[in-house]
Amino acid sequence: MQVTSPQFKDNAVHALADAQLQRALGNVRGGFIDKRRKAVEALPEFEELRESAKAIKNHTLDHLDLYLESYEEKVVASGGKVHWAETAADARGIILDICRMANARTVTKGKSMITEEIGLNDFLSGVGVRPVETDLGEYIIQLRNEHPSHIIAPAVHLNADQIEADFRRVHDHLRPDRDLSEPEALLGEARRVLRPEYFAADVGITGANFLVAETGSSIIVTNEGNGDLTQTLARVHIVVASIEKVVPTMEDAAQIIRVLARSATGQEMSVYTTVSTGPRRAGDPDGPEEYHVVLLDNGRSAMLGTEFQEMLRCIRCAACMNHCPVYHAIGGHAYGWVYPGPMGSVLTPALIGVEKGGHLPNASTFCGRCESVCPMKIPLPKMMRHWREKEFERGLNPATQRWGLKFWAFFAKRPTLYRAATSVAVPFLKLFDRGKGRFRFLPLAGGWTRYRDLPAPETRTFMQQLRDREVEARQAA
Ligand code: SF4
Repeated sequence: MQVTSPQFKDNAVHALADAQLQRALGNVRGGFIDKRRKAVEALPEFEELRESAKAIKNHTLDHLDLYLESYEEKVVASGGKVHWAETAADARGIILDICRMANARTVTKGKSMITEEIGLNDFLSGVGVRPVETDLGEYIIQLRNEHPSHIIAPAVHLNADQIEADFRRVHDHLRPDRDLSEPEALLGEARRVLRPEYFAADVGITGANFLVAETGSSIIVTNEGNGDLTQTLARVHIVVASIEKVVPTMEDAAQIIRVLARSATGQEMSVYTTVSTGPRRAGDPDGPEEYHVVLLDNGRSAMLGTEFQEMLRCIRCAACMNHCPVYHAIGGHAYGWVYPGPMGSVLTPALIGVEKGGHLPNASTFCGRCESVCPMKIPLPKMMRHWREKEFERGLNPATQRWGLKFWAFFAKRPTLYRAATSVAVPFLKLFDRGKGRFRFLPLAGGWTRYRDLPAPETRTFMQQLRDREVEARQAA
């Protein structure tokens, strides 16, 4: 994936002109928002739960080293193994070693954004291990050789007719005249095609929504049950999770789960909440023979103690992107890397550097909806502003923008001069609106006026109008 500012602008232009994508994005604009609102309204203590979830994560992040060590002890005590991966390359190498030890040819996978972050599928395919995505959305985009465009609905950018065409193209061993016009038919076909893969797989890889320090358990929440089959039927189960997924106790995980599904899909609970603790024990009817956890840092420990630490509270519910007008307009692929929407605009520069991802915090209207719906109360707009400051400090934004801001700052720090300059500039600018009250073109604002007009200023400045009103109020008194 390309992660550059020009690429983002090109992607956004193409996304806006893509009628198919715009039709698919209608599902995000409507469905998720209504469902979340109803779920939240039905739970009077939702605000209290948000506060408590935030407090749990803040406490954990303040003692992350202790909880991670305690988690590892408990995993080992239950017969599993923890592998520490500082970078994406380390994580890929560890996973490959485990696959080689298991003589794995086929690996089933539950939905996992972390494995997207480390580019696992391409890597495994390149070394002769066949990854099979088992989440329906992930399976669909794997057939298309695409990446997820949403963190909980990876194929939300597609319409049913596109999926039907992909199934007919790839499942060419099935009867060509079969009826795939209903979503249930597509689902049934995917289930039938995927079912044998669980039994063929030597290794099952899942992510984790939570890692529980007190028990050494990993928890996944899903709606399809594919995660359970992935981790139960293969001989070896690998959990790939980032370090901030740890919580102290099972009770803490349960508290956060109460805000997770409501914020994500508007459900009270996801259909499956699955807890795994170590490999199969004597007498267990099923389960893997080996249980490995790959704990990924990949830049997260460097966020601790910085203005971006709060981002590590994120539980990947996607409410922020579901409510973001920029995401609604361009979808997830335009963002150019794994994490789209407001959470991606903060997390991506932290993980790949502001030099590559610095344009993303600018893809925001700062309307504040993301923060208002975030169950973990993450101040996303504030952190995007921090990234913009860093971009400015490092001279990464365009020279016109930098000089424009310096010019404005010079006047803004001198109020008398500022008022004098605006009292001259405002009537002068007014001359160019040709009496229409709006500009169709304005030098240095071409990026704006190319697509929309810009309201012309009033003939008097805000301060002048304020003074006029004060005088009128005094006279009326
Ligand atoms: S930032 Fe908040 S709203 Fe967005 S995915 Fe993370 S927890 Fe959910």
